[in-house]
Amino acid sequence: MVNLLQFDRAGLGDFCEQLGEKRFRATQLFRWIHQRGERDPAAMTDLAKSLRDKLAGSAVVEALPVASEQVAADGTIKWLFDVGGGDAIETVFIPEADRGTLCISSQAGCAVNCRFCSTGHQGFSRNLTTAEIVAQLWHAEFTLRRRLGLAAGERAITNVVMMGMGEPLQNYAALLPALRTMLDDHGYGLSRRRVTVSTSGVVPMIDRLRDDCPVALAVSLHAPDDALRDELVPLNRKYPIAELLAACRGYLARAPRDFITLEYCMLDGVNDAPEQARALLALVRGDGSADSGLACKINLIPFNPFPASGLGRSPRERVAAFAAVLQEGGIVTTVRKTRGDDIAAACGQLAGEVQDRTRLAERGTRAAPVRVERRVAGPVSRRTGVAAPAPVRSSS
Ligand code: SF4
Repeated sequence: MVNLLQFDRAGLGDFCEQLGEKRFRATQLFRWIHQRGERDPAAMTDLAKSLRDKLAGSAVVEALPVASEQVAADGTIKWLFDVGGGDAIETVFIPEADRGTLCISSQAGCAVNCRFCSTGHQGFSRNLTTAEIVAQLWHAEFTLRRRLGLAAGERAITNVVMMGMGEPLQNYAALLPALRTMLDDHGYGLSRRRVTVSTSGVVPMIDRLRDDCPVALAVSLHAPDDALRDELVPLNRKYPIAELLAACRGYLARAPRDFITLEYCMLDGVNDAPEQARALLALVRGDGSADSGLACKINLIPFNPFPASGLGRSPRERVAAFAAVLQEGGIVTTVRKTRGDDIAAACGQLAGEVQDRTRLAERGTRAAPVRVERRVAGPVSRRTGVAAPAPVRSSS
Protein backbone atom coordinates (compact mmCIF):
# COMPACT_ATOMS: atom_id res chain seq x y z
CA MET A 1 0.00 0.00 0.00
CA VAL A 2 1.25 3.45 -0.91
CA ASN A 3 1.23 6.12 1.79
CA LEU A 4 -0.43 9.18 0.23
CA LEU A 5 1.43 11.50 2.64
CA GLN A 6 4.48 10.74 0.52
CA PHE A 7 3.31 12.92 -2.38
CA ASP A 8 3.18 16.62 -3.08
CA ARG A 9 0.30 17.52 -5.41
CA ALA A 10 2.30 16.87 -8.57
CA GLY A 11 3.35 13.47 -7.23
CA LEU A 12 -0.24 12.69 -6.35
CA GLY A 13 -1.21 13.59 -9.91
CA ASP A 14 1.30 11.03 -11.20
CA PHE A 15 -0.14 8.46 -8.81
CA CYS A 16 -3.71 9.14 -10.00
CA GLU A 17 -2.57 8.66 -13.58
CA GLN A 18 -0.96 5.36 -12.64
CA LEU A 19 -4.35 4.31 -11.31
CA GLY A 20 -5.90 5.21 -14.65
CA GLU A 21 -7.60 8.32 -13.28
CA LYS A 22 -7.57 11.93 -14.44
CA ARG A 23 -4.72 13.98 -13.10
CA PHE A 24 -6.95 16.76 -11.75
CA ARG A 25 -8.46 14.31 -9.27
CA ALA A 26 -5.25 14.73 -7.29
CA THR A 27 -6.27 18.23 -6.22
CA GLN A 28 -9.52 16.98 -4.70
CA LEU A 29 -7.72 14.11 -3.00
CA PHE A 30 -4.96 16.40 -1.74
CA ARG A 31 -7.53 18.74 -0.18
CA TRP A 32 -9.25 15.87 1.61
CA ILE A 33 -5.99 14.70 3.10
CA HIS A 34 -4.26 17.98 3.97
CA GLN A 35 -7.13 20.41 4.51
CA ARG A 36 -9.66 18.10 6.16
CA GLY A 37 -7.43 15.45 7.67
CA GLU A 38 -9.47 12.65 6.14
CA ARG A 39 -7.91 9.18 5.91
CA ASP A 40 -10.81 7.08 4.68
CA PRO A 41 -11.35 7.16 0.88
CA ALA A 42 -14.97 6.14 1.40
CA ALA A 43 -15.59 9.45 3.20
CA MET A 44 -14.19 11.52 0.32
CA THR A 45 -17.61 11.99 -1.15
CA ASP A 46 -16.82 14.25 -4.10
CA LEU A 47 -14.27 11.81 -5.52
CA ALA A 48 -15.35 9.55 -8.35
CA LYS A 49 -16.49 6.18 -7.03
CA SER A 50 -13.96 4.46 -9.29
CA LEU A 51 -11.09 6.38 -7.67
CA ARG A 52 -12.36 5.74 -4.15
CA ASP A 53 -12.47 2.02 -4.88
CA LYS A 54 -8.97 2.02 -6.36
CA LEU A 55 -7.60 3.99 -3.41
CA ALA A 56 -9.16 1.59 -0.94
CA GLY A 57 -7.20 -1.24 -2.50
CA SER A 58 -3.88 0.48 -3.11
CA ALA A 59 -3.25 3.42 -0.81
CA VAL A 60 -3.44 4.60 2.79
CA VAL A 61 -2.98 7.81 4.71
CA GLU A 62 -0.64 6.38 7.28
CA ALA A 63 0.00 8.51 10.35
CA LEU A 64 3.03 8.00 12.58
CA PRO A 65 2.44 5.99 15.75
CA VAL A 66 2.63 8.29 18.78
CA ALA A 67 4.97 6.81 21.39
CA SER A 68 4.34 9.63 23.85
CA GLU A 69 2.99 13.13 24.22
CA GLN A 70 4.20 15.57 26.84
CA VAL A 71 2.74 18.99 27.62
CA ALA A 72 4.92 21.60 29.29
CA ALA A 73 3.79 24.15 31.84
CA ASP A 74 3.88 26.85 29.14
CA GLY A 75 1.64 24.84 26.77
CA THR A 76 4.45 23.54 24.56
CA ILE A 77 3.69 20.01 23.35
CA LYS A 78 6.29 17.42 22.45
CA TRP A 79 5.36 14.30 20.54
CA LEU A 80 7.63 11.28 20.27
CA PHE A 81 6.83 9.33 17.10
CA ASP A 82 7.92 5.77 16.50
CA VAL A 83 9.41 5.51 13.00
CA GLY A 84 10.35 1.85 13.29
CA GLY A 85 13.64 0.02 13.50
CA GLY A 86 14.20 1.22 17.06
CA ASP A 87 14.16 4.89 16.01
CA ALA A 88 11.88 7.58 17.37
CA ILE A 89 11.75 11.23 16.42
CA GLU A 90 10.45 14.31 18.17
CA THR A 91 8.14 17.10 17.05
CA VAL A 92 7.37 20.19 19.11
CA PHE A 93 4.37 22.55 19.02
CA ILE A 94 5.00 26.01 20.44
CA PRO A 95 1.82 28.03 21.04
CA GLU A 96 1.96 31.81 21.18
CA ALA A 97 -0.75 34.45 21.26
CA ASP A 98 -0.60 35.18 17.54
CA ARG A 99 0.80 31.99 16.06
CA GLY A 100 1.28 28.26 16.46
CA THR A 101 4.71 27.05 15.44
CA LEU A 102 5.60 23.44 14.73
CA CYS A 103 9.22 22.34 14.92
CA ILE A 104 9.63 19.34 12.62
CA SER A 105 12.35 16.67 12.40
CA SER A 106 13.92 15.68 9.10
CA GLN A 107 16.18 12.78 10.13
CA ALA A 108 16.36 10.11 12.83
CA GLY A 109 19.45 11.51 14.53
CA CYS A 110 21.93 13.72 12.76
CA ALA A 111 25.37 13.17 11.30
CA VAL A 112 26.60 16.75 11.69
CA ASN A 113 27.38 16.27 15.37
CA CYS A 114 27.26 19.86 16.57
CA ARG A 115 28.91 20.01 19.94
CA PHE A 116 26.02 21.70 21.79
CA CYS A 117 23.19 19.62 20.31
CA SER A 118 21.56 16.67 22.00
CA THR A 119 20.46 15.19 18.68
CA GLY A 120 24.00 15.35 17.31
CA HIS A 121 25.33 13.46 20.32
CA GLN A 122 22.99 10.59 19.58
CA GLY A 123 24.50 9.90 16.17
CA PHE A 124 22.61 9.21 12.96
CA SER A 125 20.31 6.41 11.91
CA ARG A 126 18.52 7.39 8.69
CA ASN A 127 16.76 10.04 6.66
CA LEU A 128 13.03 10.41 7.15
CA THR A 129 10.79 9.94 4.12
CA THR A 130 8.60 12.75 2.81
CA ALA A 131 5.62 10.92 4.34
CA GLU A 132 7.31 10.88 7.75
CA ILE A 133 8.11 14.60 7.55
CA VAL A 134 4.59 15.55 6.43
CA ALA A 135 2.98 13.14 8.91
CA GLN A 136 4.36 15.25 11.78
CA LEU A 137 2.47 18.28 10.47
CA TRP A 138 -0.62 16.24 9.59
CA HIS A 139 -0.82 14.80 13.10
CA ALA A 140 -0.22 18.11 14.88
CA GLU A 141 -2.62 20.11 12.72
CA PHE A 142 -5.59 17.77 12.94
CA THR A 143 -5.04 16.69 16.55
CA LEU A 144 -4.90 20.32 17.65
CA ARG A 145 -7.87 21.35 15.50
CA ARG A 146 -9.99 18.71 17.21
CA ARG A 147 -8.64 19.51 20.65
CA LEU A 148 -9.03 23.26 20.31
CA GLY A 149 -12.41 22.97 18.60
CA LEU A 150 -11.29 25.08 15.65
CA ALA A 151 -13.84 25.91 12.99
CA ALA A 152 -13.41 24.76 9.39
CA GLY A 153 -10.80 26.94 7.74
CA GLU A 154 -9.05 27.83 11.01
CA ARG A 155 -5.49 26.62 11.34
CA ALA A 156 -3.69 25.32 14.40
CA ILE A 157 -0.24 25.49 12.80
CA THR A 158 0.62 28.86 11.27
CA ASN A 159 4.40 28.48 11.11
CA VAL A 160 6.74 25.59 10.47
CA VAL A 161 10.41 25.49 11.35
CA MET A 162 12.57 22.65 10.09
CA MET A 163 14.64 22.81 13.27
CA GLY A 164 13.88 19.48 14.91
CA MET A 165 16.15 16.46 14.76
CA GLY A 166 18.39 16.32 11.72
CA GLU A 167 20.00 18.51 9.09
CA PRO A 168 17.18 19.08 6.57
CA LEU A 169 19.50 19.93 3.69
CA GLN A 170 21.17 16.54 4.05
CA ASN A 171 17.77 15.00 3.30
CA TYR A 172 16.89 17.26 0.40
CA ALA A 173 15.07 14.77 -1.82
CA ALA A 174 12.51 14.10 0.90
CA LEU A 175 12.41 17.68 2.15
CA LEU A 176 11.45 19.31 -1.13
CA PRO A 177 8.04 17.61 -1.67
CA ALA A 178 7.30 18.12 2.03
CA LEU A 179 7.93 21.86 1.71
CA ARG A 180 5.77 22.03 -1.41
CA THR A 181 2.94 20.32 0.45
CA MET A 182 3.22 22.84 3.29
CA LEU A 183 3.11 25.78 0.86
CA ASP A 184 0.43 24.44 -1.48
CA ASP A 185 -2.83 26.43 -1.34
CA HIS A 186 -4.65 23.11 -1.67
CA GLY A 187 -2.56 21.72 1.20
CA TYR A 188 -1.58 23.66 4.31
CA GLY A 189 -1.33 26.99 2.48
CA LEU A 190 1.53 28.34 4.56
CA SER A 191 3.33 31.37 3.17
CA ARG A 192 7.00 31.09 2.28
CA ARG A 193 7.79 33.58 5.03
CA ARG A 194 6.24 31.27 7.62
CA VAL A 195 8.16 28.14 6.65
CA THR A 196 11.77 28.19 7.76
CA VAL A 197 14.52 25.75 6.87
CA SER A 198 17.34 25.82 9.37
CA THR A 199 20.72 24.55 8.24
CA SER A 200 24.13 24.10 9.75
CA GLY A 201 25.52 25.29 6.41
CA VAL A 202 25.28 22.73 3.60
CA VAL A 203 26.38 25.28 1.03
CA PRO A 204 25.50 23.51 -2.27
CA MET A 205 22.03 22.69 -1.01
CA ILE A 206 21.40 26.29 0.04
CA ASP A 207 21.82 27.12 -3.64
CA ARG A 208 19.44 24.31 -4.63
CA LEU A 209 16.80 25.45 -2.15
CA ARG A 210 17.03 29.00 -3.49
CA ASP A 211 16.28 27.73 -6.99
CA ASP A 212 13.69 25.08 -6.12
CA CYS A 213 11.67 26.39 -3.20
CA PRO A 214 12.95 29.55 -1.53
CA VAL A 215 11.43 29.61 1.94
CA ALA A 216 12.79 31.54 4.91
CA LEU A 217 16.34 30.47 5.77
CA ALA A 218 17.99 30.23 9.17
CA VAL A 219 21.66 29.36 9.51
CA SER A 220 23.24 27.91 12.63
CA LEU A 221 26.36 30.03 12.92
CA HIS A 222 27.32 29.83 16.61
CA ALA A 223 30.85 31.22 16.17
CA PRO A 224 32.38 34.33 14.61
CA ASP A 225 35.48 32.59 13.23
CA ASP A 226 36.38 29.35 11.51
CA ALA A 227 38.67 28.07 14.27
CA LEU A 228 35.87 27.98 16.83
CA ARG A 229 33.14 27.02 14.36
CA ASP A 230 35.22 24.05 13.20
CA GLU A 231 34.91 22.75 16.76
CA LEU A 232 31.27 23.60 17.41
CA VAL A 233 29.82 22.77 13.96
CA PRO A 234 32.14 20.22 12.33
CA LEU A 235 30.56 20.80 8.91
CA ASN A 236 32.40 24.12 8.92
CA ARG A 237 35.60 22.27 8.01
CA LYS A 238 33.96 21.47 4.67
CA TYR A 239 32.06 24.72 4.17
CA PRO A 240 33.84 27.52 6.04
CA ILE A 241 32.18 30.76 7.07
CA ALA A 242 33.18 32.80 4.01
CA GLU A 243 31.58 30.23 1.66
CA LEU A 244 28.54 29.99 3.88
CA LEU A 245 27.95 33.74 3.93
CA ALA A 246 28.43 33.90 0.16
CA ALA A 247 25.71 31.24 -0.24
CA CYS A 248 23.46 33.23 2.09
CA ARG A 249 23.97 36.39 0.04
CA GLY A 250 23.07 34.42 -3.07
CA TYR A 251 19.96 33.07 -1.33
CA LEU A 252 18.71 36.56 -0.58
CA ALA A 253 18.12 37.15 -4.29
CA ARG A 254 15.05 34.88 -4.08
CA ALA A 255 14.33 34.66 -0.36
CA PRO A 256 10.85 35.62 0.87
CA ARG A 257 12.44 37.87 3.47
CA ASP A 258 15.19 40.40 2.90
CA PHE A 259 17.38 38.91 5.60
CA ILE A 260 18.76 35.59 6.77
CA THR A 261 18.33 34.58 10.39
CA LEU A 262 21.60 33.63 12.03
CA GLU A 263 21.24 31.35 15.04
CA TYR A 264 23.85 31.72 17.75
CA CYS A 265 23.70 29.39 20.75
CA MET A 266 25.21 31.15 23.75
CA LEU A 267 27.76 28.86 25.41
CA ASP A 268 29.26 29.96 28.67
CA GLY A 269 32.89 30.89 28.24
CA VAL A 270 33.06 29.48 24.73
CA ASN A 271 31.51 31.95 22.27
CA ASP A 272 29.91 34.63 24.44
CA ALA A 273 32.71 37.15 25.09
CA PRO A 274 32.31 40.82 24.11
CA GLU A 275 35.23 40.55 21.68
CA GLN A 276 33.44 37.64 19.99
CA ALA A 277 30.33 39.82 19.68
CA ARG A 278 32.48 42.47 18.00
CA ALA A 279 33.99 39.86 15.69
CA LEU A 280 30.49 38.67 14.76
CA LEU A 281 29.42 42.25 14.12
CA ALA A 282 32.39 42.81 11.84
CA LEU A 283 31.63 39.56 10.03
CA VAL A 284 28.03 40.42 9.18
CA ARG A 285 28.66 44.09 8.44
CA GLY A 286 31.55 43.32 6.13
CA ASP A 287 33.83 45.96 4.69
CA GLY A 288 31.23 47.60 2.48
CA SER A 289 32.09 45.59 -0.63
CA ALA A 290 29.38 43.57 -2.38
CA ASP A 291 30.98 40.26 -1.52
CA SER A 292 31.23 40.82 2.22
CA GLY A 293 28.76 41.08 5.09
CA LEU A 294 25.19 39.79 5.17
CA ALA A 295 21.72 41.27 5.61
CA CYS A 296 20.67 39.34 8.68
CA LYS A 297 18.93 39.15 12.00
CA ILE A 298 20.72 37.43 14.81
CA ASN A 299 18.89 35.15 17.19
CA LEU A 300 20.77 34.46 20.41
CA ILE A 301 19.69 31.11 21.86
CA PRO A 302 20.14 30.28 25.52
CA PHE A 303 21.91 26.92 25.61
CA ASN A 304 19.89 24.09 27.09
CA PRO A 305 22.35 21.88 28.96
CA PHE A 306 22.09 18.13 28.54
CA PRO A 307 24.15 15.31 29.96
CA ALA A 308 27.47 14.72 28.15
CA SER A 309 27.66 18.10 26.46
CA GLY A 310 30.10 19.45 29.02
CA LEU A 311 28.89 22.93 28.18
CA GLY A 312 27.00 25.51 30.19
CA ARG A 313 24.43 28.23 29.55
CA SER A 314 25.78 31.76 29.34
CA PRO A 315 24.66 33.95 32.25
CA ARG A 316 21.85 36.34 31.43
CA GLU A 317 24.05 39.44 31.83
CA ARG A 318 26.59 38.04 29.40
CA VAL A 319 23.89 37.38 26.81
CA ALA A 320 22.54 40.91 27.31
CA ALA A 321 26.02 42.41 26.88
CA PHE A 322 26.59 40.34 23.72
CA ALA A 323 23.23 41.44 22.31
CA ALA A 324 23.99 45.09 23.13
CA VAL A 325 27.18 45.03 21.06
CA LEU A 326 25.25 43.76 18.04
CA GLN A 327 22.29 46.10 18.51
CA GLU A 328 24.51 49.13 18.95
CA GLY A 329 26.19 48.06 15.73
CA GLY A 330 22.84 48.24 13.93
CA ILE A 331 22.05 44.51 13.72
CA VAL A 332 18.55 43.42 14.74
CA THR A 333 19.19 40.96 17.54
CA THR A 334 16.74 38.94 19.60
CA VAL A 335 17.18 36.56 22.50
CA ARG A 336 15.06 33.47 22.04
CA LYS A 337 12.59 32.69 24.78
CA THR A 338 13.17 29.25 26.15
CA ARG A 339 10.04 27.15 25.70
CA GLY A 340 9.19 23.70 26.95
CA ASP A 341 12.46 23.08 28.74
CA ASP A 342 10.65 21.22 31.55
CA ILE A 343 9.88 18.48 28.99
CA ALA A 344 13.24 18.75 27.18
CA ALA A 345 11.50 20.27 24.16
CA ALA A 346 13.64 23.38 23.94
CA CYS A 347 16.10 24.12 21.21
CA GLY A 348 18.95 21.62 21.04
CA GLN A 349 17.32 19.23 23.51
CA LEU A 350 15.50 16.96 21.05
CA ALA A 351 16.94 13.51 21.23
CA GLY A 352 14.25 10.96 20.45
CA GLU A 353 15.63 7.46 20.29
CA VAL A 354 18.16 6.74 17.60
CA GLN A 355 19.97 3.60 16.59
CA ASP A 356 23.32 5.21 15.86
CA ARG A 357 24.52 3.67 12.61
CA THR A 358 27.48 6.05 12.39
CA ARG A 359 29.20 4.61 15.46
CA LEU A 360 29.75 8.14 16.63
CA ALA A 361 30.56 7.17 20.20
CA GLU A 362 33.08 4.56 19.13
CA ARG A 363 34.83 7.05 16.91
CA GLY A 364 35.28 9.25 19.97
CA THR A 365 33.98 12.39 18.33
CA ARG A 366 31.96 13.32 21.39
CA ALA A 367 35.12 14.19 23.22
CA ALA A 368 36.30 16.81 20.75
CA PRO A 369 37.77 19.67 22.79
CA VAL A 370 36.24 23.11 22.63
CA ARG A 371 38.06 26.30 23.51
CA VAL A 372 36.80 27.36 26.89
CA GLU A 373 37.86 30.69 28.26
CA ARG A 374 36.34 30.47 31.69
CA ARG A 375 34.51 27.66 33.41
CA VAL A 376 34.85 26.10 36.79
CA ALA A 377 32.36 23.23 36.73
CA GLY A 378 30.22 21.28 34.33
CA PRO A 379 26.52 22.01 34.07
CA VAL A 380 24.07 20.09 36.19
CA SER A 381 21.84 17.76 34.24
CA ARG A 382 18.16 18.68 34.53
CA ARG A 383 17.28 15.04 34.14
CA THR A 384 19.68 13.44 36.60
CA GLY A 385 20.76 16.28 38.87
CA VAL A 386 24.32 15.07 38.39
CA ALA A 387 27.06 17.46 37.39
CA ALA A 388 28.51 16.74 33.97
CA PRO A 389 32.28 16.72 33.63
CA ALA A 390 33.86 20.12 33.14
CA PRO A 391 34.79 20.72 29.50
CA VAL A 392 38.34 20.40 28.32
CA ARG A 393 40.30 23.59 28.74
CA SER A 394 42.26 24.52 25.72
CA SER A 395 43.93 27.67 24.56
CA SER A 396 43.93 26.64 20.93
S1 SF4 B 1 22.26 21.44 15.59
FE1 SF4 B 1 21.14 20.60 13.81
S2 SF4 B 1 22.79 20.08 12.35
FE2 SF4 B 1 23.78 20.29 14.36
S3 SF4 B 1 23.80 18.20 15.21
FE3 SF4 B 1 21.93 19.23 15.95
S4 SF4 B 1 20.33 18.61 14.50
FE4 SF4 B 1 22.32 18.23 13.52
